[in-house]
Amino acid sequence: MTFDRDLLVIGAGSGGVRAARIAAGHGAKVTVAEDYRVGGTCVIRGCVPKKLMVYAARFADDFSDAKGFGWSIGETAHDWSALIAAKDREITRLEGLYAANLERSGVEIVRARARLDGPNRVRLSDGRVITARHVLIATGGTPVRDGGFPGSDLAATSEELFHWPRRPERVVVIGGGYVALEFASLLAGLGTKATVLYRGEEILRGFDGEVRRHLHGALVARGLDVVTEDAPTRLERRDGALRLTTKAGRVIDADEVLLAIGRKPATADLGLDTVDLALRPDGSIPVTGAAATTLPWLHAVGDVTGRPALTPVAIRDGHAFADIVFGGLDRDVSHELIPTAVFTTPEVGTVGAGEEDLRAAGIAHAIFRSTFRPMRATLAGREERTLMKILVGEADDRVLGVHVVGPDAAEMVQLVAVAMRMGARKADFDRTMALHPSAAEELVTMRQPSDHWRP
Ligand code: NDP
Repeated sequence: MTFDRDLLVIGAGSGGVRAARIAAGHGAKVTVAEDYRVGGTCVIRGCVPKKLMVYAARFADDFSDAKGFGWSIGETAHDWSALIAAKDREITRLEGLYAANLERSGVEIVRARARLDGPNRVRLSDGRVITARHVLIATGGTPVRDGGFPGSDLAATSEELFHWPRRPERVVVIGGGYVALEFASLLAGLGTKATVLYRGEEILRGFDGEVRRHLHGALVARGLDVVTEDAPTRLERRDGALRLTTKAGRVIDADEVLLAIGRKPATADLGLDTVDLALRPDGSIPVTGAAATTLPWLHAVGDVTGRPALTPVAIRDGHAFADIVFGGLDRDVSHELIPTAVFTTPEVGTVGAGEEDLRAAGIAHAIFRSTFRPMRATLAGREERTLMKILVGEADDRVLGVHVVGPDAAEMVQLVAVAMRMGARKADFDRTMALHPSAAEELVTMRQPSDHWRP
């Protein structure tokens, strides 16, 4: 059988773009269909604009710390519109780079919505039908918009936040995960009175318990209101503002309410009913290896697969898919030891297991812990403490988890992840020379465990 294209990719986000470029490099004829902007969630309305806004928020700390180092800082003011405009210019620049890189690799970009139309066939919203030897679904995910309470449609999601015309004076953020905490923290840094409303016992479910409690305390010390074990029951408009009522009877007035209760795979209206593929109940596409579905011609990468919803995972899988299918190469895709960060202020960086994970798995371990005021905090008069934890398997001295809450946590944890990937033992950390004075040196100078846990 002959096909119009060797590969048709649906979705020009992190995973789809990487797969398309690598496949084209292996000589494949590739088309990418995208109905929005090239770059996907991460570049257009996720990691990148968010991190730019985090930088903006952190200047507040710089201004107040500077005084302790002899600087006189005059009155400061933040211009939200200027930030949004600058952020938009940068996103447009990056989008251009992504598109140019695709075109330079010989990939055709089609600005249209694509739907499967039976095996190896894709129908575009401009009416064209394209046949392809392989189809890769890389459509990502979208924020959950239904909070399950009356008036939840009055709340915004992160997608709208990136275009808010003004910064709200008061915000309620519903949820206790990455998106909720990052936006609550950055808005608070810019001067917003932020309330986090989380249904569970402690924010950041799935992270090490001590990390969760430490971050909670640090956010409260910075003026955020962190409410746990409570949930919204109604959201309504009142006198030009929003009023949120909760199960526990709280009534909170705010200028904006942000719904950050997770994301769902974007598989609706993709024509998946025209092919014989079973989805998971949450709508995600089950895959094995890099991107394989149960159909030999159909593949999927990224958030749409239900794998960890992280850009580097989508990129790695997309790259491996193209190498395997179009390069004939052997590629092993591992999703173990994925370092991750929560870009709150202070930020969280984590790789490997938390204490609760190790206990659940019955793994005896030693806990090395250090909390300290970073050097800069001394003259700045800042009380916030950094937390560092190393969890070490007692059977073989392997470092099983590293957790940092404090400035530059993400940067430290990325590098520690290399050592852990190589199977580092605590003894390797111990014989590594410290770099002084730094915060990271604490990671190689923790001599005595503070605790042990044995099954
Ligand atoms: P998360 O799954 O991280 O968090 C969702 C939060 O909403 C949880 O606290 C969850 O509570 C709560 N929740 C879920 N359903 C409801 C409900 N019906 N009512 C009230 N609360 C609810 O999702 P995010 O949207 O924050 O992020 C999605 C993914 O994107 C992340 O998992 C991550 O992989 C990725 N991401 C990564 C970032 C990074 O690397 N820095 C930044 C942003 C996103 P509970 O814990 O009880 O389930």
